[in-house]
Amino acid sequence: MKKLLLTFVFTLLLFPLTAQDRPNQGIGNLKYFERAYPDITFTRHYDVVSAEWMVEVKVPDTPGNKDGQGKTYEFYWANGSMLPASELANKENYWSLLYNYDKELFDPANYTESERERIKEFGSAESRKNGAGTPMFFFDAIYDSGSRRSLEQHIVRLSFLGNRTNVHERMKEPLRKVEEKILELAKTSPEVKTFLDNIKSNDAYQWRIIAGTNRKSFHSLGIAIDVLPKFQGGKQIFWSWAKDKYPDTWMLVPLKNRWMPPESVIKIFEEEGFIWGGKWIIYDNMHFEYHPELIEFNFRR
Ligand SMILES: [Zn+2]
Repeated sequence: MKKLLLTFVFTLLLFPLTAQDRPNQGIGNLKYFERAYPDITFTRHYDVVSAEWMVEVKVPDTPGNKDGQGKTYEFYWANGSMLPASELANKENYWSLLYNYDKELFDPANYTESERERIKEFGSAESRKNGAGTPMFFFDAIYDSGSRRSLEQHIVRLSFLGNRTNVHERMKEPLRKVEEKILELAKTSPEVKTFLDNIKSNDAYQWRIIAGTNRKSFHSLGIAIDVLPKFQGGKQIFWSWAKDKYPDTWMLVPLKNRWMPPESVIKIFEEEGFIWGGKWIIYDNMHFEYHPELIEFNFRR
């Protein structure tokens, strides 16, 4: 079931409902990456031949890097997609890495008729196969996830909120800060204490390439974590499971009928650079993903 889940999660993760969800990304927006990854050096120069900005990304050594050299990569900015030269001609197939992520949870009761239809269409098997996708090149560079072998040098085992799980070493410290803040809050908040007592598992790293593609889920990089509850009180937790029950109206399931972590817990994750899957149109309420560049872009402009 989990494998099936990951397939759905990845292919539909980042659905822009309108053009405004993926605004144009000038090279000035490189600053959000610089702030989000302060140990990485970003150097830009303009390439007159392609009429594109190029970005050199210098990733320093980490304990998991066995060769002790660090690595340097070069990408075309390409409207914020960060593409290698080989993919520049296909830039229309890729989304920009920065996209709109709301501060507040959107109420599905506010969807218009046409939005509902578009979401339904997007959730269809047909669209899942053929849609544009998130470019993974930048992430493969900073997480060394070009291959399973190189990535797994950076996977570390740790305890998070009472459960053992495997994560990328880059997510270790942010996750530790999240845990520290949640445990502190649980001392005074019965709601957070109840949430903690109800956690069944925390599942992060799982290598998976989607069949027939070269695309990976963020769980495959060890930078996504699912916080699964023991009991969900008859509520919906994941759009695709809800779709099995309500093929036409899964996107309209009211917020009160969706399981979710306490708002204070979601805020703590966001403060430390994580986004929450419950804010996606194709909601995944157990899922947190480490994207400090999105937090900088959306919350700290
Ligand atoms: Zn997940």
